[in-house]
Amino acid sequence: MPSSGDTFLQQQNARSDEESYKAIFASSGLRKSHLVFPVFVSNSPCLIKSMPGIAMTPIRRISQYVQSIADSGISSIIIFGIPKSRDPIGSSAFDRKGIVQNAIREIKSSFGNTMSITTDVCICQYNLTGHCGIVSNGGRVDNDATLKVLAKIAASHAEAGADVVAPSAMMDGQVYAVKRELHSRRLDASVLSFSAKHASSLYTPFRSAAFAKITTRLDKSSYQVSYSNSRLALREIETDINEGADMVMIKPALTYLDLVRMVKNRFNYPVAVQNVSGEYAIVKAAAMQGWINEDEWKVHSIASIKRAGADKIISYFVLDVAKYI
Ligand SMILES: [Zn+2]
Repeated sequence: MPSSGDTFLQQQNARSDEESYKAIFASSGLRKSHLVFPVFVSNSPCLIKSMPGIAMTPIRRISQYVQSIADSGISSIIIFGIPKSRDPIGSSAFDRKGIVQNAIREIKSSFGNTMSITTDVCICQYNLTGHCGIVSNGGRVDNDATLKVLAKIAASHAEAGADVVAPSAMMDGQVYAVKRELHSRRLDASVLSFSAKHASSLYTPFRSAAFAKITTRLDKSSYQVSYSNSRLALREIETDINEGADMVMIKPALTYLDLVRMVKNRFNYPVAVQNVSGEYAIVKAAAMQGWINEDEWKVHSIASIKRAGADKIISYFVLDVAKYI
């Protein structure tokens, strides 16, 4: 049993850790308004085994869940939909009564403009292949056919009330296609483009939950960016800026912070960074073994993303670190 002296010492240490975390965030210039929390909506509740503490939330509980996010002072979320079933063309992705569209309406009716909603715009959670594009008979991803679907999905999210739509398929011309559709329907959602989404096994924890029914190994390297090619990543980002993206995104986070700085220096443009599921799982797994100080690592990693130049940080750590801001 610890003596009262030990308890006093532990309290003192906890207090000095808290002070140091607050000082780190203050010096990095981080504010709660920079943070975005990812939300998975599904038909039934489900814990994600490889992401301890993260769950899929059913529509009937979505407002209650978003209230817990708002209670921590966070006013921005990004929604990923996990539909009940998939079909060959991923039609539920653009269904006006689809899972994401219903979630947007539900959240907006409870929170109005106090909660900003960004939505993931892709078909890989909705089609049979799990690819981000429509796969033609020859087995190739059909870029131009996919653009039409992405535009429809984005418009259906904007119609439901999304503030920002985020095409994540990495198709050529996706920003232009989405912008044109929004404009023609007089919808004023902003466009955040997943411009430099690098092919990575760091997406595995999310995919193991969202793609549980896909049994074949997914190789998205033909349309995602390679780790080894920062020039191509910069070109993708420049193209999206030229097509009218309101903000560009780089993911994963910690292995690409040099790229974040390069983009800020070269384009001086709003940049979002996504700290992905694998980056979360690594920290959680090590912390559960007692091998790292979990809070310290969360604070240091979020501060480093801000220091690199991110204007928005999407991370599963957001709710845990909000208390230090
Ligand atoms: Zn996708």
